[in-house]
Amino acid sequence: MNANPNPRPTHAPMEYFPVRHGELTVGGLPLSRLAARVGQTPFYAYDRHLIAQRVAELRAALPASIKLHYAMKANPMPALVCHLAGRVDGLDVASAGELKVALDAGAKAHEISFAGPGKRRAELECAVAAGILINVESFREVSELADIGERTDDRARVAVRVNPDFELKGSGMKMGGGPKQFGVDAEQVPALLAAIGKANLDFEGFHLFAGAQNLKAEAIIEAQCKSYELARQIAESAPAPVRTLNLGGGFGIPYFPGEQRLDLAPIGANLAELAERATADFPGAQLVIELGRYLVGEAGLYVTRVIDKKVSRGQIFLVVDGGLHHHLAASGNFGQVIRKNYPVAIGNRMDRVTHETVSIVGPLCTPLDLLAEKMELPAADVGDIVVIYQSGAYGFTASPQAFLGHPPCVEVLA
Ligand SMILES: *Cc1c(COP(=O)(O)O)cnc(C)c1O
Repeated sequence: MNANPNPRPTHAPMEYFPVRHGELTVGGLPLSRLAARVGQTPFYAYDRHLIAQRVAELRAALPASIKLHYAMKANPMPALVCHLAGRVDGLDVASAGELKVALDAGAKAHEISFAGPGKRRAELECAVAAGILINVESFREVSELADIGERTDDRARVAVRVNPDFELKGSGMKMGGGPKQFGVDAEQVPALLAAIGKANLDFEGFHLFAGAQNLKAEAIIEAQCKSYELARQIAESAPAPVRTLNLGGGFGIPYFPGEQRLDLAPIGANLAELAERATADFPGAQLVIELGRYLVGEAGLYVTRVIDKKVSRGQIFLVVDGGLHHHLAASGNFGQVIRKNYPVAIGNRMDRVTHETVSIVGPLCTPLDLLAEKMELPAADVGDIVVIYQSGAYGFTASPQAFLGHPPCVEVLA
Protein backbone atom coordinates (compact mmCIF):
# COMPACT_ATOMS: atom_id res chain seq x y z
CA MET A 1 0.00 0.00 0.00
CA ASN A 2 1.16 3.49 -0.77
CA ALA A 3 1.49 5.27 2.56
CA ASN A 4 1.52 8.66 0.88
CA PRO A 5 -1.05 8.76 -1.92
CA ASN A 6 -0.49 12.49 -2.58
CA PRO A 7 3.27 13.01 -2.54
CA ARG A 8 4.35 16.58 -3.14
CA PRO A 9 4.99 17.04 -6.84
CA THR A 10 8.66 17.25 -7.76
CA HIS A 11 10.53 18.86 -10.63
CA ALA A 12 11.17 16.78 -13.73
CA PRO A 13 14.71 15.38 -13.54
CA MET A 14 17.36 17.90 -14.60
CA GLU A 15 20.10 15.77 -16.05
CA TYR A 16 21.46 17.48 -19.16
CA PHE A 17 24.47 18.96 -17.37
CA PRO A 18 26.89 16.24 -16.24
CA VAL A 19 28.21 16.24 -12.67
CA ARG A 20 31.93 15.69 -12.12
CA HIS A 21 33.52 15.54 -8.64
CA GLY A 22 30.36 16.96 -7.14
CA GLU A 23 30.24 19.87 -9.53
CA LEU A 24 27.93 20.62 -12.46
CA THR A 25 29.70 21.04 -15.79
CA VAL A 26 28.73 23.20 -18.74
CA GLY A 27 30.38 22.57 -22.10
CA GLY A 28 32.76 20.19 -20.30
CA LEU A 29 33.93 22.79 -17.76
CA PRO A 30 33.18 22.59 -14.03
CA LEU A 31 31.08 25.57 -12.97
CA SER A 32 33.72 27.10 -10.65
CA ARG A 33 36.24 26.99 -13.51
CA LEU A 34 33.72 28.49 -15.91
CA ALA A 35 32.94 31.25 -13.38
CA ALA A 36 36.67 32.02 -13.17
CA ARG A 37 36.86 32.12 -16.96
CA VAL A 38 33.86 34.43 -17.18
CA GLY A 39 35.41 36.61 -14.49
CA GLN A 40 32.26 37.19 -12.45
CA THR A 41 29.04 35.90 -11.13
CA PRO A 42 26.18 36.17 -11.94
CA PHE A 43 26.13 34.95 -15.51
CA TYR A 44 24.05 32.93 -17.90
CA ALA A 45 25.75 29.87 -19.41
CA TYR A 46 24.38 28.20 -22.53
CA ASP A 47 25.70 24.83 -23.68
CA ARG A 48 26.19 24.75 -27.45
CA HIS A 49 26.31 20.96 -27.53
CA LEU A 50 22.91 20.69 -25.80
CA ILE A 51 21.38 23.12 -28.29
CA ALA A 52 22.68 21.10 -31.23
CA GLN A 53 21.42 17.94 -29.57
CA ARG A 54 17.94 19.43 -29.15
CA VAL A 55 17.78 20.32 -32.84
CA ALA A 56 18.87 16.79 -33.72
CA GLU A 57 16.14 15.30 -31.49
CA LEU A 58 13.52 17.45 -33.18
CA ARG A 59 14.77 16.51 -36.64
CA ALA A 60 14.50 12.85 -35.67
CA ALA A 61 10.94 13.23 -34.35
CA LEU A 62 9.50 15.49 -37.05
CA PRO A 63 9.01 14.64 -40.73
CA ALA A 64 11.92 15.76 -42.91
CA SER A 65 9.69 18.07 -44.96
CA ILE A 66 8.76 20.26 -41.95
CA LYS A 67 10.88 23.41 -41.76
CA LEU A 68 12.15 24.21 -38.28
CA HIS A 69 12.49 27.90 -37.38
CA TYR A 70 14.01 29.52 -34.31
CA ALA A 71 11.97 32.34 -32.74
CA MET A 72 14.80 34.64 -31.71
CA LYS A 73 13.07 36.56 -28.96
CA ALA A 74 13.54 33.54 -26.65
CA ASN A 75 17.29 34.22 -26.68
CA PRO A 76 18.85 36.69 -29.12
CA MET A 77 22.47 36.37 -27.91
CA PRO A 78 24.41 36.88 -31.17
CA ALA A 79 26.81 33.95 -30.70
CA LEU A 80 23.89 31.64 -29.89
CA VAL A 81 21.92 32.84 -32.91
CA CYS A 82 25.01 32.16 -35.08
CA HIS A 83 25.24 28.68 -33.59
CA LEU A 84 21.58 27.99 -34.36
CA ALA A 85 21.44 29.74 -37.74
CA GLY A 86 23.41 26.96 -39.39
CA ARG A 87 21.27 24.26 -37.80
CA VAL A 88 17.66 25.36 -38.26
CA ASP A 89 15.86 26.21 -41.51
CA GLY A 90 14.98 29.76 -40.59
CA LEU A 91 14.92 32.53 -38.00
CA ASP A 92 11.81 34.38 -36.88
CA VAL A 93 12.47 37.92 -35.75
CA ALA A 94 10.15 40.27 -33.89
CA SER A 95 11.91 43.63 -34.37
CA ALA A 96 14.39 45.36 -36.66
CA GLY A 97 16.97 44.88 -33.89
CA GLU A 98 16.53 41.12 -34.03
CA LEU A 99 16.59 41.28 -37.84
CA LYS A 100 20.07 42.82 -37.67
CA VAL A 101 21.31 40.02 -35.39
CA ALA A 102 19.80 37.40 -37.74
CA LEU A 103 21.45 38.90 -40.82
CA ASP A 104 24.77 39.33 -38.98
CA ALA A 105 24.55 35.65 -38.03
CA GLY A 106 24.58 34.81 -41.72
CA ALA A 107 20.92 33.89 -42.22
CA LYS A 108 19.72 34.41 -45.80
CA ALA A 109 16.76 36.66 -46.56
CA HIS A 110 14.63 33.71 -47.66
CA GLU A 111 15.22 32.08 -44.25
CA ILE A 112 13.99 35.02 -42.16
CA SER A 113 10.45 36.06 -41.27
CA PHE A 114 9.23 39.00 -39.21
CA ALA A 115 6.16 38.98 -36.95
CA GLY A 116 4.91 41.28 -34.22
CA PRO A 117 2.16 43.82 -33.66
CA GLY A 118 2.98 47.47 -34.35
CA LYS A 119 5.80 47.20 -36.86
CA ARG A 120 6.95 50.77 -37.36
CA ARG A 121 7.49 52.35 -40.76
CA ALA A 122 11.28 52.32 -40.33
CA GLU A 123 11.21 48.63 -39.38
CA LEU A 124 9.09 47.78 -42.42
CA GLU A 125 11.56 49.68 -44.61
CA CYS A 126 14.47 47.65 -43.16
CA ALA A 127 12.53 44.42 -43.74
CA VAL A 128 11.70 45.29 -47.37
CA ALA A 129 15.30 46.28 -48.06
CA ALA A 130 16.48 43.00 -46.53
CA GLY A 131 14.04 41.04 -48.68
CA ILE A 132 12.66 38.97 -45.79
CA LEU A 133 9.14 37.60 -45.38
CA ILE A 134 6.90 39.98 -43.43
CA ASN A 135 3.99 38.51 -41.50
CA VAL A 136 1.52 41.39 -41.79
CA GLU A 137 -0.73 41.93 -38.78
CA SER A 138 -2.93 44.87 -39.80
CA PHE A 139 -4.41 46.77 -42.73
CA ARG A 140 -2.03 49.64 -41.94
CA GLU A 141 1.00 47.41 -42.46
CA VAL A 142 -0.33 46.39 -45.87
CA SER A 143 -0.80 49.97 -47.01
CA GLU A 144 2.59 51.06 -45.60
CA LEU A 145 4.28 48.20 -47.47
CA ALA A 146 2.46 49.09 -50.69
CA ASP A 147 3.66 52.67 -50.25
CA ILE A 148 7.26 51.57 -49.55
CA GLY A 149 7.08 49.42 -52.70
CA GLU A 150 5.99 52.37 -54.83
CA ARG A 151 8.75 54.60 -53.51
CA THR A 152 11.58 52.06 -53.74
CA ASP A 153 10.59 49.59 -56.47
CA ASP A 154 11.18 46.76 -53.97
CA ARG A 155 8.14 44.52 -53.70
CA ALA A 156 7.50 43.34 -50.17
CA ARG A 157 7.11 39.61 -49.54
CA VAL A 158 4.17 39.11 -47.21
CA ALA A 159 2.33 36.40 -45.32
CA VAL A 160 -0.79 37.08 -43.28
CA ARG A 161 -0.63 36.46 -39.56
CA VAL A 162 -4.07 35.20 -38.62
CA ASN A 163 -5.65 35.57 -35.20
CA PRO A 164 -7.50 32.26 -35.21
CA ASP A 165 -10.96 31.68 -33.81
CA PHE A 166 -9.60 29.13 -31.32
CA GLU A 167 -7.00 28.98 -28.54
CA LEU A 168 -4.13 26.65 -27.68
CA LYS A 169 -5.66 24.86 -24.70
CA GLY A 170 -3.66 24.77 -21.48
CA SER A 171 -1.02 27.14 -22.73
CA GLY A 172 1.16 29.22 -20.42
CA MET A 173 0.62 32.19 -22.74
CA LYS A 174 -2.29 32.46 -25.14
CA MET A 175 -1.51 34.42 -28.26
CA GLY A 176 -4.51 33.66 -30.44
CA GLY A 177 -8.27 33.28 -30.14
CA GLY A 178 -10.71 35.95 -28.94
CA PRO A 179 -9.77 39.62 -29.15
CA LYS A 180 -5.99 39.90 -29.54
CA GLN A 181 -3.42 42.47 -30.62
CA PHE A 182 -1.66 39.75 -32.64
CA GLY A 183 -2.48 39.10 -36.27
CA VAL A 184 -5.72 39.84 -38.09
CA ASP A 185 -8.95 38.14 -37.00
CA ALA A 186 -9.76 35.18 -39.25
CA GLU A 187 -13.09 36.88 -40.17
CA GLN A 188 -11.23 39.94 -41.50
CA VAL A 189 -8.62 37.98 -43.44
CA PRO A 190 -10.56 37.78 -46.76
CA ALA A 191 -10.75 41.60 -46.86
CA LEU A 192 -7.03 41.86 -46.01
CA LEU A 193 -6.19 39.36 -48.75
CA ALA A 194 -8.18 41.47 -51.22
CA ALA A 195 -6.16 44.54 -50.17
CA ILE A 196 -2.91 42.59 -50.65
CA GLY A 197 -4.12 41.45 -54.09
CA LYS A 198 -4.74 45.06 -55.16
CA ALA A 199 -1.41 46.31 -53.78
CA ASN A 200 1.91 45.62 -55.38
CA LEU A 201 2.91 42.92 -52.88
CA ASP A 202 4.04 39.30 -53.18
CA PHE A 203 1.66 37.13 -51.17
CA GLU A 204 3.36 33.99 -49.89
CA GLY A 205 1.18 32.41 -47.23
CA PHE A 206 -0.13 32.31 -43.69
CA HIS A 207 1.24 32.42 -40.17
CA LEU A 208 -0.77 31.13 -37.20
CA PHE A 209 0.53 31.16 -33.64
CA ALA A 210 -2.01 30.11 -31.03
CA GLY A 211 0.08 30.13 -27.87
CA ALA A 212 3.29 29.26 -26.05
CA GLN A 213 4.64 27.04 -23.26
CA ASN A 214 2.41 24.00 -23.74
CA LEU A 215 3.35 20.59 -22.35
CA LYS A 216 0.37 18.64 -23.70
CA ALA A 217 0.97 16.96 -27.05
CA GLU A 218 -2.80 16.57 -27.63
CA ALA A 219 -3.40 20.30 -27.24
CA ILE A 220 -0.57 21.15 -29.66
CA ILE A 221 -1.87 18.58 -32.16
CA GLU A 222 -5.38 19.99 -31.92
CA ALA A 223 -4.13 23.55 -32.51
CA GLN A 224 -2.01 22.44 -35.48
CA CYS A 225 -4.97 20.61 -37.06
CA LYS A 226 -7.30 23.58 -36.53
CA SER A 227 -4.66 25.97 -37.90
CA TYR A 228 -4.28 23.80 -40.97
CA GLU A 229 -8.06 23.70 -41.54
CA LEU A 230 -8.40 27.44 -41.09
CA ALA A 231 -5.56 28.06 -43.55
CA ARG A 232 -7.29 25.78 -46.06
CA GLN A 233 -10.50 27.82 -45.80
CA ILE A 234 -8.95 31.27 -46.02
CA ALA A 235 -6.60 30.18 -48.82
CA GLU A 236 -9.69 30.22 -51.04
CA SER A 237 -9.56 34.04 -50.93
CA ALA A 238 -5.77 34.25 -51.42
CA PRO A 239 -4.46 36.32 -54.35
CA ALA A 240 -1.70 33.76 -55.09
CA PRO A 241 -0.89 30.16 -54.18
CA VAL A 242 0.29 29.51 -50.62
CA ARG A 243 4.02 28.85 -50.55
CA THR A 244 4.56 29.02 -46.79
CA LEU A 245 2.26 27.79 -44.07
CA ASN A 246 3.62 28.54 -40.60
CA LEU A 247 1.67 26.50 -38.06
CA GLY A 248 3.28 28.12 -35.01
CA GLY A 249 4.86 26.22 -32.15
CA GLY A 250 4.10 26.48 -28.48
CA PHE A 251 6.26 23.50 -27.42
CA GLY A 252 6.87 23.92 -23.71
CA ILE A 253 9.58 22.83 -21.28
CA PRO A 254 9.00 21.75 -17.65
CA TYR A 255 9.64 24.59 -15.22
CA PHE A 256 7.61 23.77 -12.13
CA PRO A 257 6.97 20.81 -9.82
CA GLY A 258 4.64 18.25 -11.36
CA GLU A 259 5.41 19.20 -14.98
CA GLN A 260 6.64 16.51 -17.37
CA ARG A 261 8.60 16.83 -20.61
CA LEU A 262 6.59 17.08 -23.82
CA ASP A 263 6.13 13.89 -25.85
CA LEU A 264 7.32 14.72 -29.37
CA ALA A 265 6.36 11.43 -31.05
CA PRO A 266 2.59 12.07 -31.50
CA ILE A 267 3.29 15.65 -32.63
CA GLY A 268 5.69 14.32 -35.27
CA ALA A 269 3.14 11.76 -36.43
CA ASN A 270 0.44 14.41 -36.75
CA LEU A 271 2.73 16.76 -38.66
CA ALA A 272 3.57 13.91 -41.04
CA GLU A 273 -0.16 13.52 -41.72
CA LEU A 274 -0.60 17.26 -42.29
CA ALA A 275 2.46 17.35 -44.56
CA GLU A 276 0.95 14.53 -46.59
CA ARG A 277 -2.39 16.35 -46.89
CA ALA A 278 -0.58 19.57 -47.82
CA THR A 279 0.86 17.99 -50.96
CA ALA A 280 -2.73 18.04 -52.29
CA ASP A 281 -4.13 21.16 -50.55
CA PHE A 282 -1.08 23.42 -50.89
CA PRO A 283 1.08 21.94 -53.64
CA GLY A 284 4.70 23.07 -53.40
CA ALA A 285 4.16 24.86 -50.10
CA GLN A 286 6.52 24.62 -47.12
CA LEU A 287 5.12 23.74 -43.71
CA VAL A 288 6.93 25.57 -40.94
CA ILE A 289 6.97 25.37 -37.16
CA GLU A 290 8.64 28.04 -35.05
CA LEU A 291 10.10 27.28 -31.66
CA GLY A 292 11.82 29.52 -29.16
CA ARG A 293 12.19 28.20 -25.64
CA TYR A 294 12.03 24.54 -26.68
CA LEU A 295 15.28 24.92 -28.64
CA VAL A 296 17.29 26.83 -26.03
CA GLY A 297 15.53 26.90 -22.65
CA GLU A 298 16.89 23.66 -21.24
CA ALA A 299 20.42 24.37 -22.51
CA GLY A 300 20.84 27.40 -20.25
CA LEU A 301 21.72 27.92 -16.60
CA TYR A 302 21.67 31.07 -14.52
CA VAL A 303 24.68 31.00 -12.20
CA THR A 304 24.92 33.13 -9.08
CA ARG A 305 26.92 33.05 -5.85
CA VAL A 306 25.91 33.10 -2.20
CA ILE A 307 27.00 36.37 -0.58
CA ASP A 308 25.26 35.94 2.76
CA LYS A 309 23.46 33.31 4.77
CA LYS A 310 20.95 34.54 7.28
CA VAL A 311 18.47 32.95 9.66
CA SER A 312 15.29 34.87 10.29
CA ARG A 313 12.87 33.48 12.86
CA GLY A 314 13.91 29.96 12.04
CA GLN A 315 14.01 30.31 8.26
CA ILE A 316 17.28 30.13 6.34
CA PHE A 317 17.88 32.71 3.61
CA LEU A 318 20.67 32.43 1.08
CA VAL A 319 21.29 35.91 -0.29
CA VAL A 320 22.89 35.66 -3.73
CA ASP A 321 24.54 38.19 -6.05
CA GLY A 322 21.87 37.73 -8.76
CA GLY A 323 18.14 38.20 -8.70
CA LEU A 324 14.99 39.27 -10.47
CA HIS A 325 16.83 42.08 -12.27
CA HIS A 326 18.61 39.34 -14.27
CA HIS A 327 16.05 36.56 -14.12
CA LEU A 328 12.57 37.97 -13.82
CA ALA A 329 10.93 34.68 -14.81
CA ALA A 330 12.53 32.67 -11.98
CA SER A 331 11.22 35.23 -9.49
CA GLY A 332 7.70 34.51 -10.72
CA ASN A 333 7.10 37.97 -12.11
CA PHE A 334 7.08 37.13 -15.85
CA GLY A 335 3.55 35.95 -16.59
CA GLN A 336 3.04 33.47 -13.74
CA VAL A 337 -0.28 33.64 -11.90
CA ILE A 338 0.98 31.82 -8.81
CA ARG A 339 4.67 31.95 -7.93
CA LYS A 340 6.36 28.53 -8.14
CA ASN A 341 9.98 27.50 -7.85
CA TYR A 342 12.16 26.88 -10.88
CA PRO A 343 14.46 23.86 -10.49
CA VAL A 344 17.53 24.94 -8.54
CA ALA A 345 20.81 23.29 -7.51
CA ILE A 346 23.87 24.13 -5.45
CA GLY A 347 26.18 23.70 -8.44
CA ASN A 348 29.38 22.95 -6.53
CA ARG A 349 27.74 20.76 -3.85
CA MET A 350 25.90 18.22 -5.99
CA ASP A 351 27.06 15.31 -3.84
CA ARG A 352 26.64 16.89 -0.41
CA VAL A 353 24.53 14.61 1.76
CA THR A 354 23.35 17.18 4.33
CA HIS A 355 20.29 19.00 3.11
CA GLU A 356 18.42 21.96 4.53
CA THR A 357 15.37 23.97 3.60
CA VAL A 358 16.28 27.43 2.34
CA SER A 359 14.82 30.40 0.53
CA ILE A 360 17.09 32.00 -2.07
CA VAL A 361 16.78 35.74 -2.47
CA GLY A 362 18.62 38.39 -4.46
CA PRO A 363 20.16 41.65 -3.23
CA LEU A 364 17.28 43.92 -4.30
CA CYS A 365 15.25 45.85 -1.73
CA THR A 366 11.95 44.22 -2.63
CA PRO A 367 10.26 41.03 -1.40
CA LEU A 368 9.63 40.19 -5.08
CA ASP A 369 13.34 39.35 -5.40
CA LEU A 370 12.79 35.71 -4.50
CA LEU A 371 14.47 33.03 -6.63
CA ALA A 372 13.48 29.96 -4.61
CA GLU A 373 11.04 29.66 -1.74
CA LYS A 374 11.60 27.04 0.98
CA MET A 375 13.36 24.46 -1.15
CA GLU A 376 15.23 21.48 0.21
CA LEU A 377 18.77 21.71 -1.14
CA PRO A 378 22.27 20.55 -0.19
CA ALA A 379 23.52 22.79 2.63
CA ALA A 380 25.24 25.82 1.14
CA ASP A 381 27.63 28.42 2.52
CA VAL A 382 28.84 31.85 1.51
CA GLY A 383 30.80 31.49 -1.75
CA ASP A 384 28.85 28.48 -3.00
CA ILE A 385 27.26 28.53 -6.43
CA VAL A 386 23.49 28.58 -6.89
CA VAL A 387 22.26 27.42 -10.27
CA ILE A 388 18.82 27.91 -11.77
CA TYR A 389 18.00 25.42 -14.50
CA GLN A 390 15.69 25.98 -17.52
CA SER A 391 17.15 29.45 -17.96
CA GLY A 392 18.19 29.51 -21.61
CA ALA A 393 15.07 31.37 -22.75
CA TYR A 394 13.40 34.60 -21.60
CA GLY A 395 16.14 35.29 -19.06
CA PHE A 396 18.85 37.82 -19.86
CA THR A 397 16.87 39.99 -22.30
CA ALA A 398 13.52 39.57 -20.56
CA SER A 399 14.65 41.03 -17.23
CA PRO A 400 14.86 44.62 -15.93
CA GLN A 401 18.66 44.84 -15.56
CA ALA A 402 18.67 48.53 -14.67
CA PHE A 403 16.36 48.04 -11.68
CA LEU A 404 18.27 49.08 -8.54
CA GLY A 405 21.58 49.76 -10.24
CA HIS A 406 23.45 46.52 -9.58
CA PRO A 407 26.23 45.38 -11.96
CA PRO A 408 25.02 43.91 -15.26
CA CYS A 409 24.85 40.22 -15.94
CA VAL A 410 26.90 38.54 -18.67
CA GLU A 411 26.27 35.60 -21.00
CA VAL A 412 28.58 32.84 -22.15
CA LEU A 413 28.09 30.15 -24.80
CA ALA A 414 30.20 27.23 -23.64
C1 LIG B 1 7.18 34.33 -28.77
C2 LIG B 1 6.85 33.72 -30.05
C3 LIG B 1 7.36 32.45 -30.38
C4 LIG B 1 8.21 31.65 -29.45
O1 LIG B 1 7.51 31.15 -28.36
P1 LIG B 1 8.23 30.05 -27.44
O2 LIG B 1 7.31 29.83 -26.31
O3 LIG B 1 9.54 30.62 -27.00
O4 LIG B 1 8.43 28.84 -28.27
C5 LIG B 1 7.05 31.95 -31.61
N1 LIG B 1 6.30 32.64 -32.49
C6 LIG B 1 5.79 33.85 -32.20
C7 LIG B 1 4.96 34.55 -33.20
C8 LIG B 1 6.04 34.43 -30.99
O5 LIG B 1 5.54 35.64 -30.70
